[in-house]
Amino acid sequence: MNTSKSKEIYEKSKIYIPGGVNSPVRAFNSVGIDPIFINRGTGSKVYDEDGNEYIDFICSWGPLIFGHSNEDILSDVDEIIKRGTSYGMPTEIEYKMAKLITQMSPSVEMVRMVNSGTEATMSAIRLARGYTRRDKIIKFEGCYHGHSDSLLVKTGSGALTFSIPTSPGVTEGTTKDTLVCTYNDLDSVKKVFEEKGDEIAAIIVEPVAGNMGVVPPTKGFLQGLREITKEYGAILIFDEVITGFRLSSGGAQKYYGVTSDLTCYGKIIGGGLPVGAYGGKKEIMNMVSPVGPVYQAGTLSGNPLAMYIGYKTLKRLQDNDEIYKSLEGKAIYLEQGLNKIIDEVGIEATVNRAGVMLSMFFSEGPIEKYEEVMKCDTERYGMFFKEMISRGILLAPSQYEGIFISEAHTIEHLDKMLRATRESLNIIKNN
Ligand SMILES: *Cc1c(COP(=O)(O)O)cnc(C)c1O
Repeated sequence: MNTSKSKEIYEKSKIYIPGGVNSPVRAFNSVGIDPIFINRGTGSKVYDEDGNEYIDFICSWGPLIFGHSNEDILSDVDEIIKRGTSYGMPTEIEYKMAKLITQMSPSVEMVRMVNSGTEATMSAIRLARGYTRRDKIIKFEGCYHGHSDSLLVKTGSGALTFSIPTSPGVTEGTTKDTLVCTYNDLDSVKKVFEEKGDEIAAIIVEPVAGNMGVVPPTKGFLQGLREITKEYGAILIFDEVITGFRLSSGGAQKYYGVTSDLTCYGKIIGGGLPVGAYGGKKEIMNMVSPVGPVYQAGTLSGNPLAMYIGYKTLKRLQDNDEIYKSLEGKAIYLEQGLNKIIDEVGIEATVNRAGVMLSMFFSEGPIEKYEEVMKCDTERYGMFFKEMISRGILLAPSQYEGIFISEAHTIEHLDKMLRATRESLNIIKNN
């Protein structure tokens, strides 16, 4: 595989951008090779600057549920752009977008658009604190909610990969109100509530953990969080930045039948443009400025181009609910195929799946808790990644991420991925 052009751009980029990338996981640090630079994507495939073709299982980390440059989604973009890309004034598409989100989500009655998942969670937490007039929040180790200060405590995703428990630059004062509990361990939550229940504004949780690899909620976990927050008058925040519009048209809350007070969106909601949103009950959302006292704003929030592409993406999902059956079918196909190969090759690995979300861990299962995730052989994942990419299969360059499947991935693509997996696992087995 010739990647000389990617290498050349990487070297130049490193002069001007920290690590040559604008988000750390893109540097491929945890798999030990230089990153590839992408030139274009269509359907399930991306092409790098050297012209190599890959079946893409990153899908921009989730937004591209219809694959790259979907013709239907992009059909009127030229017209929209000609009218201007931002006014800093309200537009009708923002109302249409908000209405559509409230129709699709089981619990969101009002919604505010922002520009990223990070902004959504940060704002939702401020709102929960403003509404309850309490300071403390609970998050779970291994769950990632973006990079705002109060959430960068023993966090997952990039920081997990790089083994930084807490980022320098985040003050103790900022994180002292963030309490960390164990995912899938209700007792750890109950204990904290028993001690500090009247100080806790909110629990924020990924209803399916997707940033320590995919770790589904164990039976009763989400329901338990719902009950305990109700009991203590705290807000339950579902961070549905990955699960929203992916697990089902109504996200994880529709999939599992447990609703939150506030919900955060990102990724799919922008269809590949920088969009996030947070929403929930009217009573809480009416605390947000300019109606209420909780301040939150954004120069580019709800900008018409992003709203247009986001709206088209969500509408297409709403109008084609059967896509979720089809996506889940593909995820099951991969799960079964991977399990068969793992058995056949005789390698220590575990496949976790929640609906359409899945990942393969290099360790014995079951994997339900963060400490079990931490037992994975990340070096082995690095070797696996290298074998796979040399066979035209682009996986996440980190053990702690999911395998993303889009509408554009056909059974043929999945079979190619499974063939590459069989070859790769056979090679790395003896290393
Ligand atoms: C990606 C992600 C975020 C952060 O979103 P950005 O758009 O990258 O800021 C927050 N929460 C979850 C669950 C995510 O997966």
